[in-house]
Amino acid sequence: MHSKKHKSQMSIIEFQKKYDTEDKCREELFKMRYPKGFKCSKCECTEYYYLKSRGKYQCKNCKHQSSVTSGTVMDRSHLKLTVWLWAIYLFSNDKRGSSACYISQVLKLPYKTAWFVLQRLRYAMAERENKYMLSGTVELDDTYVGAPTRGKKRGRGTEKMKVITALSKDENGKPQYLKMECLENLKGVTIGKYANNHIVEGSTIESDACRAYLKPLAQKYMHVYSIFDANSTDLIWLHTMISNAKSFIQGTYHGLERKHVNLYLAEFCFRFNRRHFHEMLYQRLMIAALAAPVCRYNKLVNSLADSK
Ligand SMILES: [Zn+2]
Repeated sequence: MHSKKHKSQMSIIEFQKKYDTEDKCREELFKMRYPKGFKCSKCECTEYYYLKSRGKYQCKNCKHQSSVTSGTVMDRSHLKLTVWLWAIYLFSNDKRGSSACYISQVLKLPYKTAWFVLQRLRYAMAERENKYMLSGTVELDDTYVGAPTRGKKRGRGTEKMKVITALSKDENGKPQYLKMECLENLKGVTIGKYANNHIVEGSTIESDACRAYLKPLAQKYMHVYSIFDANSTDLIWLHTMISNAKSFIQGTYHGLERKHVNLYLAEFCFRFNRRHFHEMLYQRLMIAALAAPVCRYNKLVNSLADSK
């Protein structure tokens, strides 16, 4: 009974010891970033000098200098690595998802900085999620997220957003991997393109008998569909996920805008898909943050973070 709590308390003490100086953080991130040894991003040379005064690595061949976070979502941040890693730890260990307000209070950061840190981390999660495709038996359905707009607009983020959800199941019919994405529309062409990008050809797709699904899914998939009625247990896992995702978003993030919704959905899926890592989720997020490319502030503020 005590094991889970005990383990998580150990984990925060271990974390504090392991990452209490800039040097320790840099060394750990270096090992994570280059598990097979250093490789220059310009010329692929594997030999380098460490420039202690600058905390940078210089390639022996082309003299290119890089830091451990160059070219990642943490690139050109004025924040210390210790602060970044605490943000990653706090963010990944709060299952309900941390708000920028909370992170700014705990880490004594300006709100805007905290918001940007979390958006960069969500972007890293989204990049990671987009690397995988679903396969086997996949449940698929669409839904609306966000409050309906009645009469005049009730402020930002109240627009209803069309979200498609896909969930693969294991051989026992239990949920395995989840994907959610806000689409421009739910027309056949869009659904077909979505399936193409996210579900391996030849998989079995289970859905209701929605007309938009029929033609695009018949071409590359084994499509099993039935007319959905309210008492049916069809797609029961999928609908549980959708309802959990809605409470996750509504519970933590108020006034969510259309242009940001995919980052929050990616966060929800990233957490769900790594649920077995429990309190070690922060390691997965560190790896994701090192693997995702640079994302500039303007891109996170202004553009849609839709997957390709
Ligand atoms: Zn080089």
